[in-house]
Amino acid sequence: MANIDVPTLTMQFPLLNQLVALKEVCWFNPKITSLREGLPFVGLDAADIQDASDRLSRFGSFLMKAFPDTARDQGMIESEVVDIPAMKSQLEAMSETEIPGRLMLKKDSHLPISGSIKARGGIYEVLTHAEKLAIDAGLLSESDDYSQLLSDTFRQFFSQYSIAVGSTGNLGMSIGIISATLGFSVTVHMSADAREWKKAKLRSHGVNVVEYDQDYGVAVEQGRKAAEQDPRCFFIDDENSRTLFLGYAVAGERVRKQFDAQGIVVDANHPLFVYLPCGVGGGPGGVAFGLKMAFGDHVHCIFAEPTHSPCMLLGVHTGLHDGISVQDLGIDNVTAADGLAVGRASGFVGRAMERLIDGYYTLTDEQMYRLLGLLNQCEGIQLEPSALAGMPGPMHVSEDRDYHRRLELTPEKLRHATHLVWATGGGMVPPEEMAEYLAKSV
Ligand SMILES: *Cc1c(COP(=O)(O)O)cnc(C)c1O
Repeated sequence: MANIDVPTLTMQFPLLNQLVALKEVCWFNPKITSLREGLPFVGLDAADIQDASDRLSRFGSFLMKAFPDTARDQGMIESEVVDIPAMKSQLEAMSETEIPGRLMLKKDSHLPISGSIKARGGIYEVLTHAEKLAIDAGLLSESDDYSQLLSDTFRQFFSQYSIAVGSTGNLGMSIGIISATLGFSVTVHMSADAREWKKAKLRSHGVNVVEYDQDYGVAVEQGRKAAEQDPRCFFIDDENSRTLFLGYAVAGERVRKQFDAQGIVVDANHPLFVYLPCGVGGGPGGVAFGLKMAFGDHVHCIFAEPTHSPCMLLGVHTGLHDGISVQDLGIDNVTAADGLAVGRASGFVGRAMERLIDGYYTLTDEQMYRLLGLLNQCEGIQLEPSALAGMPGPMHVSEDRDYHRRLELTPEKLRHATHLVWATGGGMVPPEEMAEYLAKSV
């Protein structure tokens, strides 16, 4: 990888001074394009999302039987969209900014099976792998009832294979739980950020947890190396996987159906703004891709990162993508938002999606904790710190006149806007741990 000449780079991109100073920043990318112009750079299309959606449907009977909390939606791993009007008032009071439009929360924090957004991509990739192995072995065909995958025959079959992944916690949770359920031998390489209870929960499912004192990048590299030694081991590559990305992308069509059912209109006069917490980028990137395919140019996606881990903002803003890490600038990548503690962005997502992501901002850990407490107080909803990263987004969008002008977002349109904050995790945090989070929020 090229050497980074920080002084020259900073001269060219003065915003980096603020990143280095750990200031909260917001940057709307002036180079975004329409979906039509941007889509060819993604290299995936509507048919790929449909394929992922169909695959998940085939697994419906299996998921329903293995995880009764998915039975409510016939084996679909999906979360609610809810209004948070009291939080909206609090945010307006706190920031002295009016937020025109409606404020809603997408509760991926409460997705079945693993209680985070990783229950979309992570689980989907393991299911894809399992289906391929079983079909190639002549044990399964697409028209079969997949609930038979829970039988001893299949568990024995899958136990010949292993799965490995590097994670800050939540991806490991998703992949560990679903892999162990199918009978795979599974190893999760956990970065130093990973919470103790997540490791304990995985071990109780029979997952092999390997712990590192270093950050996510190191955990992924070690996982990749270990997997290379074993031809029967499948490594789930969070930094580059198109499969993970498509698992996340299915969310777009699902949100559109949920909006239709609630009579929420998204069109030229009713824009939708979606605020997505970003770590390596696969989750928010995949969801943003799905949303763009579902709502076209009327949806505007904005990524949120901790001030100590602004890897995607850095990669897209400088155009260096995974060629630069926050550590190259002397930023430490240490944050209470363990789901977002990533120093180097995905090499795939930024390049594929940069034209279709309106903007990026950072926020401090203190701000995440404050918002965590507020949301608990006024809406009774409990999230982990990472999941609050999207909450300041509506203020940034409401305040930036240049952005409004460039996108022709008139006051009239903004009054009819829907702001959707993507809550990415927290549904399975143990009560003692949640009490500690809440204690830090005051
Ligand atoms: C993983 C994660 C994210 C971000 O997803 P990436 O694919 O890493 O960008 C956001 N919030 C939580 C809680 C997560 O676990």
